[in-house]
Amino acid sequence: MSATSSSATTRVAFVTGGSRGIGRAAAVSLAEAGHRVAICFSSDKDGAEDTLTAIRAAGSEGLAVQADVADAESVDAAFKEIEAALGTVELLVNNAGITRDGLLMRMSDAQWGDVIQTNLTGAFHTIRRATPKMMKGRFGRIVNVSSVSGQTGQAGQANYSAAKAGLVGLTRAVARELASRGITANIVAPGPIVTAMTEGLPDDWRSWAEQTVPLGRLGTPEEVGGVIAFLCSDIAGYVTGALVPVDGGLGMGH
Ligand code: NAD
Repeated sequence: MSATSSSATTRVAFVTGGSRGIGRAAAVSLAEAGHRVAICFSSDKDGAEDTLTAIRAAGSEGLAVQADVADAESVDAAFKEIEAALGTVELLVNNAGITRDGLLMRMSDAQWGDVIQTNLTGAFHTIRRATPKMMKGRFGRIVNVSSVSGQTGQAGQANYSAAKAGLVGLTRAVARELASRGITANIVAPGPIVTAMTEGLPDDWRSWAEQTVPLGRLGTPEEVGGVIAFLCSDIAGYVTGALVPVDGGLGMGH
């Protein structure tokens, strides 16, 4: 099928961390595009069920799997379950992420290690597991969710900024390594988005964001999910190694 065909191929997508927030919005956007969508979640089973309901309401088929992306064996088990239920994963969205904020001098090894292991190594685990079959099918889309913090750095988030910057290098290495196999790999870098991750932050953070973001507001998960779904589409076939900010202009110039 040509990349410009109006009836794009429907495929199997896997969104990590799909029980809420940006992951849920990406899953729904992919379902709206006709794809069957598997999600994984760390502990929020009810949230994952709500995402499945939304996937079905969008007219598609879904699957929710409990998995820890930080653990390669858990990732392998999730893929086996998805492959048995839905088929080979051709669209992979590495969205699962955590924060363990703290000033550098007081940051524990656990705070550092947990964030690197989930946010960066987690993506390595899923990409390593997904790509042999993508290579066989000579098609794949990988979207890694970074952050504006990965480009600009963020005080109190040395671990998170390092992991998110690491994702950029990982994505571009994968983009170069697998381009000849029909696989693209791109980065979406959100700015401040209204999700559970940001709702616990103090009010002065929110007013700082509203004053600093050129568009004058926080973003919605759907605004990120739509860009992720675009990068997974057939028509995005000539985009690889790109970093697409969805940040209201916050990171302009980086
Ligand atoms: P969220 O906290 O609302 O959701 C995170 C999701 O990741 C949940 O579904 C959770 O179950 C899952 N998850 C966490 N650890 C996991 C693990 N070890 N294994 C499997 N799943 C795991 O977060 P969000 O705000 O929707 O953020 C999604 C992504 O976007 C994250 O990578 C985050 O760093 C990034 N991001 C968010 C913002 C923002 O302002 N919200 C900004 C920039 C980047």
